[in-house]
Amino acid sequence: MTITKRCAVCGRFRAYDPDDTFCIGCGHDALESHCTCGRAFEYALHEAGDMHCPRCGRVLRGPPVIDE
Ligand SMILES: [Zn+2]
Ligand SMILES: [Zn+2]
Repeated sequence: MTITKRCAVCGRFRAYDPDDTFCIGCGHDALESHCTCGRAFEYALHEAGDMHCPRCGRVLRGPPVIDE
């Protein structure tokens, strides 16, 4: 079983095991499994770019775009 978690540092959404706590992208211990309002992130996994929580409107960014 996997659940969708978001890294608060780099903003990536990915499927993780429930016990995972470290971001696969940046290595920070900053994964959150739901929004501050309690909404789960299942809707976000296949979205790209900027998005917002459908319940509370909080800004939830997708993977950062590297543009240099
Ligand atoms: Zn990260
Ligand atoms: Zn929310």
